[in-house]
Amino acid sequence: MLRSHTCGELKIEDVNKVVTLSGWVQKVRDKGGLIWIDLRDRYGITQLLLEEGRSDIATIDAARKLGREFVIQAVGKVIEREAKNPNMTTGDIEIDLGSLEILNSSLTPPFTIEDNTDGGEELRMKYRYLDLRRQPLRKNLELRNRLSIETRKYLDSQQFFEIETPYLIKSTPEGARDFVVPSRMNEGQFYALPQSPQTFKQLLMVAGYDRYYQLVRCFRDEDLRADRQPEFTQIDCEMAFVEQDDVLNTFEGLVKYLFSKVKNIEIQELPRIQYSDALVYYGSDKPDLRFGMKFIELNDVAQNKGFKVFDDAELVVGINADGCAGYSRKELDKLTDFVRKPQIGALGLVYAKYNEDGTFKSSVDKFFSQEDLKEWAHKFNAKPGDLMLVLSGEANKVRKQLSELRLEMGNILDLRDPNVFVPLWVVDFPLLEWDEDSHRYHAMHHPFTSPKAEDLALLSTNPGEVRANAYDLVINGVEIGGGSIRIHDRNLQKLMFRHLGFTDEEAQEQFGFLMNAFEYGAPPHGGIALGFDRLVALFGGQDSIRDFIAFPKNNAGRDVMIDTPSVIADSQLEELKLKVVKE
Ligand code: ASP
Repeated sequence: MLRSHTCGELKIEDVNKVVTLSGWVQKVRDKGGLIWIDLRDRYGITQLLLEEGRSDIATIDAARKLGREFVIQAVGKVIEREAKNPNMTTGDIEIDLGSLEILNSSLTPPFTIEDNTDGGEELRMKYRYLDLRRQPLRKNLELRNRLSIETRKYLDSQQFFEIETPYLIKSTPEGARDFVVPSRMNEGQFYALPQSPQTFKQLLMVAGYDRYYQLVRCFRDEDLRADRQPEFTQIDCEMAFVEQDDVLNTFEGLVKYLFSKVKNIEIQELPRIQYSDALVYYGSDKPDLRFGMKFIELNDVAQNKGFKVFDDAELVVGINADGCAGYSRKELDKLTDFVRKPQIGALGLVYAKYNEDGTFKSSVDKFFSQEDLKEWAHKFNAKPGDLMLVLSGEANKVRKQLSELRLEMGNILDLRDPNVFVPLWVVDFPLLEWDEDSHRYHAMHHPFTSPKAEDLALLSTNPGEVRANAYDLVINGVEIGGGSIRIHDRNLQKLMFRHLGFTDEEAQEQFGFLMNAFEYGAPPHGGIALGFDRLVALFGGQDSIRDFIAFPKNNAGRDVMIDTPSVIADSQLEELKLKVVKE
């Protein structure tokens, strides 16, 4: 080994040991008679010291020629530091440098390799291997590794079996576009990369592997957003002989285990909220429950008072902001501007201040008396000093708008602490969702999700009302995962495909393999998949998943480091029969 220790481990107890360290030169400080070198590796930084008149002259000369990011091997004696640095694990000691050898030189890096780098996003992506040398990224990958190990430990303790499923498959209908791979040996035919191993994990249940999991890469050709990557990792799981509660309990166990092991946080029992309630109370199927501000509906007290905007609205609904009655005109205007942003699309915002002296001041004083506003306050359970914020309009739209305002108020009032975690289950999702573009119903989760037995009769009369045995895991307003109890009966699966607009032939063509399998003793089964990148980012207290993936793609789906997607040679295209050869 080219080292006896790492750069992150030497302590005061090691004083007088002669050690060999290898790493990258982070910084050289030359103060005339004294030279310090910060030597870095994955484990930390250790300070090396040279002193004119005492240290070897050749070593001093060599040190003066070092550049940033040179790779060196250093031999010396551990000594106690005069000026200790309590912020570093190795801050009590330094190395009295005896000799050093340059293992490799380096060009000057295009940005500083420090916690707060001066490099812009694009440059750092291009030189990702340099960016990854920085401690914040190193810590993110360490967290990722830790979470993957603990996930495996927990699932293993619960008799789950890790089984790999293929990457070259036939498309799975998860609702997104597939990435496809041409087959050279089967002219004109394509594989698809899996959007998830959904059908395979179900086939594993038929095969009797009653607890399966996999930390698996999935691929979706979607338009990208900050928290999306064309390839991402899921903790994918399936269980047989279970009902919804069994799946929820098992994965509630995983959530608690991970928080306890990795963050030292004990999570209480997860609330289970019905999808319809989540919309009514929070305007979102992924509510952030780190704070309250539940929606309060005001139709009965706010309509028929002559205020046309409210009278014409399907829904008048608001939230109570604790202690915000003192908001200035400017602050209120800012909130109004916020809800009017095109992405949110409200026409305006009505406010009512419950002043400390018990009086009310609202933006609709013309229409509402003090008595009326008192009734509002009663509904809101507001106290003097609070601010009531009210929106109105078409129910679905206005709930979405108010949900955005609620989150914004949560931000303004510092109620969304990234070190506080509130996970919950959202259950009883609708089975189907109407799609305006194609004018038909789509599976809200996926076509293998089972309808609730008690809602089956509605399937032909009122398909939009049918609830599914489907659930999402939500943490701090982020959808971390989702799953369902599956259909395991061929006829029901066939019926489902019909409702989704497939002819029997199309269903057989695409999913015959699954429906055939259902005829050979398919057990009742269900499962879940958790977005691993998002989970890691959440544990790391950040919104974007990009810095928790070693080599991510940029917003345009490109890897700017290896410069791909890229064109391929004509000969390759011809071989794949993707290019018409001109005569
Ligand atoms: N395959 C689903 C997904 O990727 C998860 C599941 O139903 O288990 O969202």
